[in-house]
Amino acid sequence: MRIAISVSSKCDLCGLCAEYCPTGVFRVSGSRLEVNESACIYCKGCEVLCPVRAISVRALDEGLSIVRGRTLVSAKPS
Ligand code: SF4
Ligand code: SF4
Repeated sequence: MRIAISVSSKCDLCGLCAEYCPTGVFRVSGSRLEVNESACIYCKGCEVLCPVRAISVRALDEGLSIVRGRTLVSAKPS
């Protein structure tokens, strides 16, 4: 399954998703949230867990091509 994860600018880097995700998809690094889509097992728990609903996890059609692996998502300045 191909999975795309997006994190909106509502993210305040609280780190809850990084603590929760069973496969370590998220990591807070400085002022960024690192997202490793290739490790996602599509449990969708992070979408519910995020206090500001910043995370969207989508399964993509096989016909769509995406770049897998590490994606850096900028968080809004605090
Ligand atoms: S995506 Fe949500 S749970 Fe994860 S660090 Fe940002 S605000 Fe926190
Ligand atoms: S859907 Fe599950 S496995 Fe994927 S990033 Fe969210 S918590 Fe982690």
